[in-house]
Amino acid sequence: MISVDSSFQAILSSWSFDVWIVAPIVLSSLLYLRGWCVLRQRGSQRFGAWQLAAFGCGMALLSIALLSPIETFSALMLRMHMVQHLLLMFLIPPLLWLSAPELPLLCGLPSGVRREWIAPLYRWKPIRSGFAFLTRPPVAWGLFVAATWIWHLPRFYDAALSSGTLHNLEHACFFWAAMLFWWPVVQPYPSRLKYSRWVLLPYLFLAAVQGTVLSGILSFANDVIYDHYELLPKVWGITAIDDQAIAGTLMWLFGMLAYVIAGALVGYKLLFAPRSRQLHFAVAGMPPVQSRVTTYAPPAAVRPTTRRLNRAKHRPPVRQQLPILSHDGHSSHRPARDVLNVPLLGRFLRWNKSRLVLQFVMFAAAALVIVDGLLGAQIVSLNLAGVLPWIHWRGFLVLGLLVAGNLFCMACPFKLSRTLGKTLFGGRRHWPRWLRSKWLAVGLLFVFFWAYEVFSLWQSPWWTAWIAVGYFLAAFVVDGFFRGAAFCKYVCPIGQFNFVQSLVSPLEVRVRDTSVCEECTTKECIRGAAATATAAAIPGCELHLYQPRKSSNFDCTFCLDCVHSCPHQNVGILTTLPGRELLRNPRRSGIGKLGGRTDVAALVLLLVFAAFVNAAGMVAPVLDLIDRLQAGWGFASRIPIVTAGYLLGLGAVPFCLVAIASLAGRRWSGDSESALRIATRFSYMLVPLGFSMWLAHYSFHLFTSSGAFSAAMRRFLSEFGWRDVETAAWVCSCGLETADWLLKMELILLDAGLLLSLYIGYRIARDRYLGMRRAMGAFLPWAGIAVILFLAGVWLVFQPMQMRGVMPMGM
Ligand code: SF4
Ligand code: SF4
Repeated sequence: MISVDSSFQAILSSWSFDVWIVAPIVLSSLLYLRGWCVLRQRGSQRFGAWQLAAFGCGMALLSIALLSPIETFSALMLRMHMVQHLLLMFLIPPLLWLSAPELPLLCGLPSGVRREWIAPLYRWKPIRSGFAFLTRPPVAWGLFVAATWIWHLPRFYDAALSSGTLHNLEHACFFWAAMLFWWPVVQPYPSRLKYSRWVLLPYLFLAAVQGTVLSGILSFANDVIYDHYELLPKVWGITAIDDQAIAGTLMWLFGMLAYVIAGALVGYKLLFAPRSRQLHFAVAGMPPVQSRVTTYAPPAAVRPTTRRLNRAKHRPPVRQQLPILSHDGHSSHRPARDVLNVPLLGRFLRWNKSRLVLQFVMFAAAALVIVDGLLGAQIVSLNLAGVLPWIHWRGFLVLGLLVAGNLFCMACPFKLSRTLGKTLFGGRRHWPRWLRSKWLAVGLLFVFFWAYEVFSLWQSPWWTAWIAVGYFLAAFVVDGFFRGAAFCKYVCPIGQFNFVQSLVSPLEVRVRDTSVCEECTTKECIRGAAATATAAAIPGCELHLYQPRKSSNFDCTFCLDCVHSCPHQNVGILTTLPGRELLRNPRRSGIGKLGGRTDVAALVLLLVFAAFVNAAGMVAPVLDLIDRLQAGWGFASRIPIVTAGYLLGLGAVPFCLVAIASLAGRRWSGDSESALRIATRFSYMLVPLGFSMWLAHYSFHLFTSSGAFSAAMRRFLSEFGWRDVETAAWVCSCGLETADWLLKMELILLDAGLLLSLYIGYRIARDRYLGMRRAMGAFLPWAGIAVILFLAGVWLVFQPMQMRGVMPMGM
């Protein structure tokens, strides 16, 4: 038997902090609070302290249900488990609906997200009718009762207690079924009544009856129903059968109380509330409803027949687009945030030497890589050339792209050798016309990915150092001879990677006010600013991006020359909606129409498929397969097998998939454009998915091997005589254990990438074709590619992956 004292101790120490529960709760609470404040500022009387309190209580109870000792003890005591379920089913859902969360949560979102992502989904008929169907009283009732009974069957209940995943699934079913169940009862603002409220009385009554039957079975059973609890020690001296009886009684009491209170309020409203007012729970202090919903007016030309009139009488009013979701509504429009206005950071970035400072920092890191790679011990996990580029730099590169933008190009150390080349040779020639595309970069990227795998570059500090040296030399030669930033725009594989991935970054260098540019005659942002008595000359955009017509981050190195050269301080680093530029196809300065650039689409496809092929080259089943094929076919090295794999994975497979998708889409949509142009336009939808795979892969290495830098640095300092560090202090350069949350994070990233890709594809199709049928005909084959890649990504993240920064066996 467990003593009371020890149980009390256990209660105090058994609060959990599961970031996957805490993060959504905190995020939605912040969104609600922000939206609530916005609505109050706009003078809405509808959202008072009661709504805020209801939401706050709902979220607090959700935290208690899922994070408090209730969760821990639910595996030991059925009564605790029952309390948890009762909170999830009877208390939290009504509280959340009473808070009328729809408008505050929408208003709490950044306006770009709301307008570009949520509004189209909100208006999408299948979603609206799907929700309307699920909240119809018979459907909601059926789902609620089914969830309750199915999960209380001994087989499922015991299975949920023995598996964390099933337990979470059980809670999700209870919670969401209850949300649907309580929706018609509470009828949260601004939803409208679509049926007679009298329906709710049998609705609640029948729910109470089935609840009574279930709680009766639990309370009066002669045997323990759930084996799991019978096998556990007695807690506080209560036997399993008594525990079961208490749980049944709690279920009956709580359930009945909830149904009776809800029924009484519904009955009161039906009998006593004025007919003109919409029915809501009578929470004291709640102001009367001011409906913002308009009803649908049929066109005057349609003469209503008696049948139509009868039908119209019963038809629910069509809800028009809410003002906060409108594209042109001034109420929702907010100017983009500008990073240059952030204290200290903005000041630093406006300083015209800021980039130089960052470049020197990165140059110092590159110098360490080169020196250690060429002269240091060739132990990959203890050499800075084996650790810094292949673990830290790649990880921070993709995280930087996710949270800000093309930060690496901003601090690029190769800019120093480009500048040196220009100073020595003048850089006056024009880049050859036939090379003014991304095809050269596509070829170089393919060679790089292939060489990385074939020669296991990450395992050779010496080769890594020479790659860095080669980079400096190439930048020096190309920009020494050619004008502008030819190296960045047409050659650099890292730059092309950044240009493509930064299409889903949240920041963009762009003009603050287009009307200022209309008045401007000097155009320093592209031509450069001449030297004055107090300031040196500042170049214009070397990438040929003219600010007033610049659109998206593509080809932008975040060099900030335009920021510094514009005499009107009209260029900023502004927030933008990630992926928004992939939806549009305008003519862009320095690039043209992305939808017409086959070379850019090829670059995008190469990077998307390379994300998956590159990760596949590191997982155990693929490595085993390569070994078996090599042995089976009698090759002395793995090079032919890997080369064939790369030709397939980055050549034949993408080509076939894209050809099939664009031909099928062309046929099903009745498009007369060539399949190549269709493929070019739709390829861009895959950018978010490819980025999510890079992000999942590189951040996995960053988080599992982040300690490798410290060990490599200690070894470096020791070997080069700067500091005497004992061997034992740096030899523990091993990968960290893979944390649980890493797998979840990878899956969430892939999910987000897939959703964004599908959404962008859908929007491209809707903008391109008239009519849903044609649009879906074009979209679905591309959605198929996205789903195939997503499933491949999910399979990859579940496989054992080669680690980076790990001491090789036998060292
Ligand atoms: S960004 Fe500045 S320099 Fe360029 S056109 Fe606009 S106002 Fe003129
Ligand atoms: S000058 Fe050109 S490349 Fe540099 S930040 Fe401005 S637009 Fe981007």
